Amino acid sequence: SNNLMAGKRGLIMGLANDKSIAWGIATQLAEAGAELAFSYQGEALKKRVGPLAAQLRSDFLLECDVSDMASVDALFAEIEKRWGKIDFLVHAIGFSDKAELRGRYVDTSRDNFMMTMDISVYSFTAVCQRAAALMPEGGSLLTLTYYGAEQVMPHYNVMGVAKAALEASVKYIAEDLGKVGIRCNAISAGPIKTLAASGIGDFRYIMKWNELNSPLRRNVTQEEVGKAALYLLSDLGSGTTGENLHVDAGYHVVGMKAVDAPDI
Ligand code: NAD
Repeated sequence: SNNLMAGKRGLIMGLANDKSIAWGIATQLAEAGAELAFSYQGEALKKRVGPLAAQLRSDFLLECDVSDMASVDALFAEIEKRWGKIDFLVHAIGFSDKAELRGRYVDTSRDNFMMTMDISVYSFTAVCQRAAALMPEGGSLLTLTYYGAEQVMPHYNVMGVAKAALEASVKYIAEDLGKVGIRCNAISAGPIKTLAASGIGDFRYIMKWNELNSPLRRNVTQEEVGKAALYLLSDLGSGTTGENLHVDAGYHVVGMKAVDAPDI
């Protein structure tokens, strides 16, 4: 353990269970001395998030559905009331209709396109706006993305388009808020078995492919994403903003994949 986050407070959005990437990040931050608040989607998740938060010495739990701006406003009003200001925010939220995370991108419906963009892209901008108002002495904002934004991945479809927009928004937010000392970055995580990932068609195959073809010849863990988040959210990352840090065992640098894939 270390003291990299001693005296720092922040909000973790997107914890669903102990497989969540948000859990890997929260664990590293708490071990480094951060004080954490958690937002969860819907009352049903509270009984799972509560005990996890308690493990990290937090009793600060807030319900928030990011598709509802009144709910987002209420979340930040509660944080302002209890803490006044924050030092960091983690956005580990994405959603799309799983019926469209298989088959062809070209068949995406307008309704699901708009919902996917709203929950997976606009929500980050919406929470950055409100978090920035609580960061008078600067801060650090972080979201999660995937390589399917940069290159075509099987079944990722509309989420790939959404992640491309999310990655662009990270750069615009970095520029807007850099002058007031707020950094904004993304982590592009390799495939990790989580609830959200289980909605993607043939996800196990994608994990196997990543394991066989990445330079490190393995997949990454929630803990490794957490360690990278600790860098970006702590003073170690003070010179880094607008970045998309790949924590993917190096998969994104490989041009010629070595393994022959059967058709999927
Ligand atoms: P997860 O299912 O554990 O987390 C997704 C979270 O999004 C859940 O907590 C869910 O409650 C929340 N969410 C969905 N809709 C919401 C809404 N309307 N309001 C509030 N919260 C909402 O899965 P995860 O894999 O940990 O996902 C976290 C982030 O990491 C996502 O952005 C995902 O795209 C990204 N990511 C995941 C992988 C992977 O392989 N698992 C790889 C790269 C990036």
